[in-house]
Amino acid sequence: MSLFARWRASGREAAVIGLGKSGVASALLLRREGIPVYASDMARDLSKVLGAEAESAGRRLAEAGVALELGRHDLSRIGRAAACVVSPGVPPGAPPVAAARGAGVEVVSEIDVGYAALPGARYAVITGTNGKTTTTALTAHLLQAAGFPSLAAGNIGRALAEVALSEERPSWVALEISSFQLHDTHALVPTVGAMTNLAPDHLDRYTALEEYYADKDRLYLNAHPESRWVLNGDDGEVERRSRGVPGTRRWFRIRSRADGWLDRTAGRLMLGDTALLPREELLLLGDHNVANALCAALIAREAGAELDAIARGLRSFRALPHRMEPIRTVDGVLWINDSKATNIASTQVAVEALERPFVLLLGGRHKGEPYTALAAAAGQHCRGVVAYGEARDLVTRDLAGLVPVTKVGTDFAEVIATARYLARPGDAVLLSPACSSYDMFRNYEDRGAQFRAAVEAL
Ligand code: ADP
Repeated sequence: MSLFARWRASGREAAVIGLGKSGVASALLLRREGIPVYASDMARDLSKVLGAEAESAGRRLAEAGVALELGRHDLSRIGRAAACVVSPGVPPGAPPVAAARGAGVEVVSEIDVGYAALPGARYAVITGTNGKTTTTALTAHLLQAAGFPSLAAGNIGRALAEVALSEERPSWVALEISSFQLHDTHALVPTVGAMTNLAPDHLDRYTALEEYYADKDRLYLNAHPESRWVLNGDDGEVERRSRGVPGTRRWFRIRSRADGWLDRTAGRLMLGDTALLPREELLLLGDHNVANALCAALIAREAGAELDAIARGLRSFRALPHRMEPIRTVDGVLWINDSKATNIASTQVAVEALERPFVLLLGGRHKGEPYTALAAAAGQHCRGVVAYGEARDLVTRDLAGLVPVTKVGTDFAEVIATARYLARPGDAVLLSPACSSYDMFRNYEDRGAQFRAAVEAL
């Protein structure tokens, strides 16, 4: 019996935890399937979660007959439900989810709900610690270039349940899935599944690294002999943890030859013995993005895309906003927006991606890690660091004597002007702050947008 049929037959309601976009979409989808729904969120006001969309979402939920509760979760009601649907971003141990589990209620992710409502599609499922969003967007782009009706969904921003609610019926879904989402996803069968890489992350929300990796392993939960996997061959953890998984495994590597690899001598991205395209024709900065491109190319190949469609797609793909996004060159200086880099590790990747001298804009709200690691990564190439925002004193203290640091305040115009003064023709100016943005901006998107506006006005 299908998930929906089972829940309908129980005569009980489904509890939806969290009313972000995916929670709203799940609740509406369940109502469409004739299942009573109780949906709750700790926020007292829907606009805190949904912003401008709150009003129309509230109306649609009411019209659909969803029992809505804001400001609390009724744990005993959740404990009596037929099922509990968890929104992405809700940690597996959150109290309402724990209450459901404790009462023996079936707990599923929003992904399983969307998946049950989209039975005809094939799925390229992408997870890993870093590069998920880029690889997912690239995969959808390559599949489109190959002529397959496809879209990107999941953690990338459009919930699978939202796709299911819409009229669209893609033949392929490039689905980005986080470890939290995987935790309660049971039914999903990837046509092709990819693991970009594995590294410690989210240790604030998991009690042990092994728990985080175990959730990532759930990518392989429904593996069968016809499964196809695209995996990072430079990553020992990925290699070890995929051993013995049924199906075909294809490997990408940037350090040596593989199914998808970077031929550094010839400067080409390769699929086996075939050259796909010259490195410089991929308009993404850094080796990490070559890895993402090779991963997406192998996924597309496994999906049946032709080589020239893949090459064409790679050539026409542009960086996603706020992720090593080149804005423009002014007086010979390339300005790059990497506002998404809100921790030391991602700034490190960004800095290592640059092959020219650069001025680094570092600062914002401090998140706890020291900045000293960045001095080694920045190496010879760093013309100077502009330390700004709340973290400016810490940045200055950690990097003083290691790289030239100019300390400014919290006026972003001053940050830009200082960078302009320091940079010489041929340099880059890189906004990759290694900090959160909340001291001066609404969020990292706002920070990136203000950077773009300032650079466009230069
Ligand atoms: P995710 O969705 O997994 O957070 P994104 O594609 O949004 O990944 O990239 C976020 C940041 O992670 C990038 O700005 C970059 O610094 C870093 N990154 C991207 N791809 C990789 C990769 N393959 N390996 C390591 N770091 C990466």
